Amino acid sequence: MNDEQLLRYSRHILLPQIGIEGQDAIVAARVLVVGAGGLGSPAAMYLAAAGVGTLVLADGDTVDLTNLQRQILHSQEGVGRLKVESGRDTLARLNPEVRVLPIGRRLEDGELEAEIAAADVVLDCSDNFATRHAINRACVVHRKPLVSGAAVRFDGQVSVFDLRADDSPCYHCLFPEGEDVEEVRCAVMGVFAPITGIVGAVQAAEALKLLVGCGETLTGRLLLLDALAMDWRTIRLGRDPACAVCASR
Ligand SMILES: [Zn+2]
Repeated sequence: MNDEQLLRYSRHILLPQIGIEGQDAIVAARVLVVGAGGLGSPAAMYLAAAGVGTLVLADGDTVDLTNLQRQILHSQEGVGRLKVESGRDTLARLNPEVRVLPIGRRLEDGELEAEIAAADVVLDCSDNFATRHAINRACVVHRKPLVSGAAVRFDGQVSVFDLRADDSPCYHCLFPEGEDVEEVRCAVMGVFAPITGIVGAVQAAEALKLLVGCGETLTGRLLLLDALAMDWRTIRLGRDPACAVCASR
């Protein structure tokens, strides 16, 4: 790190759990954020401010007026632009040291595989089960740590699936695909603005801890927030030995 970086990141470096070595790991890291909406906004902003060297931002949507109530990566002048381009500009203003790679389409198949294989940590900030399961499958194959977040109405949840570890459950262990789960999307449901901020910020915190290797992540735990009661709960998660995705890994 140069002198300016030492100053910029001094408050991280002062933390004994991070220090120069931890900040070096953050600066050297490549992180994939899938979704530049309500969760991806605060997640990408904290990761950029914290100095993640390469931030890959993937989202095929454009900024809509109804997004601005919670998607703080975007502003009024961004309406109609690709979210990843609006996001890249915001992140560049926040920290010009960070290389932001915008992918303005839905990541699928080979491209999704390649991006996950290249990432040190993956953040699922998407809003639909098809994408969540595709990300999970690729993270299982490539044994990449996955930080998964969701928020709708006043409810949020976060977990980490550290698929480098043999005993970590995967997303599919928790939410098996094809089960009759109600798909509630922020695009059509109400969502309390700060809940996306809280969940996205927790995702950024978990991603940074994974990069640095400090503390204890949410691996094997699901954190649930009811913002109406402002009540946090944690549920223990185990691996499903019959999981169709990770059982044979
Ligand atoms: Zn599994």
